[in-house]
Amino acid sequence: MDFFHHGMSTLVRTGQRVAVLLPGERPDSVGDLLARGLRRLDVDALAYGPVADAESAALAVASYRAHCLVGIPTQVLAVARSRAGTAIGKGSIESVLLSTDYVPRAIAKTLEEVWGCRVFTHYGMTETGLGGGVECEALDGYHLREGDLYFEVVDHETGEACPDGAVGEVVFTTLTRRGMPLIRYRTGDISRIIPQPCPCGSRLRRMDRVRGRWDGAVRLGGCTLTLSDMDESLFRLSSLLDYRVTVSKKGDGRSRLHVDVHKVEGESFTERQVLRTLNEVDAIRKCIADGCLEMPTVRFSPDGRWTTTGVSKRKIVTISDPVTLE
Ligand SMILES: [Zn+2]
Repeated sequence: MDFFHHGMSTLVRTGQRVAVLLPGERPDSVGDLLARGLRRLDVDALAYGPVADAESAALAVASYRAHCLVGIPTQVLAVARSRAGTAIGKGSIESVLLSTDYVPRAIAKTLEEVWGCRVFTHYGMTETGLGGGVECEALDGYHLREGDLYFEVVDHETGEACPDGAVGEVVFTTLTRRGMPLIRYRTGDISRIIPQPCPCGSRLRRMDRVRGRWDGAVRLGGCTLTLSDMDESLFRLSSLLDYRVTVSKKGDGRSRLHVDVHKVEGESFTERQVLRTLNEVDAIRKCIADGCLEMPTVRFSPDGRWTTTGVSKRKIVTISDPVTLE
């Protein structure tokens, strides 16, 4: 609650309103703790909960006249791209805080364009006790919750600590926890400690924005395809709300990508547009040219029928092609 109280004080001021699009029904859930932290700032919070229907969530945010939104990247994107969300226009939502493992830049940029707001990101997970680190006004890396958590970046293979500035896997150790203490807990997230002091003047160390996850990458021939590369291309498509990618590996060493797309209801959106955008991803273009990747297949989910990944981490799913296994 202390962390939420102080972290949110860079986003909102006394008398403002925050719509919290995170689970908040139960006592001590993330939404509940956030609302209680905000109350200390005399900031009102609407515990809306996760977004199941983007249009209704956007209407709730608009009628509440929220100054700030807190939510999961793909869900807040869906709110911004809904009819009521776009109608909110610029100037009323001043800031958005996106929370989970990592935030595609393309989503943050879209929100800045639609609402004219500043987009902050938060880093944390259940294991960190929710809050882990949050960006300040410099918007350049998360200030870590160092009073309770000791963060290190280690070599993914050897587990040896990396020097500050070097990219590796984020691990953390709990310093004050009595139940379920963790020592060098491996998050699977890829980042680095920023060695330079922050322009905001805080002495809390900063961790760079998470670049992806070790399980968010797959080897295709001589290239590595990462989910974050695909995110940065696909989320620029204005009719796209979310997607899921499956890689099927065939016996002959070739692979195929299957991309399931969730689009804005009623928008016409072609397979060709998606394929053209996928072709902008270096690893995909190279692998198709090398012959180790077949042309991707694209499927559109019927409007309104998409189960969001919610708070779980997004990843690339790899399967062995059942046809070639026979
Ligand atoms: Zn700072």
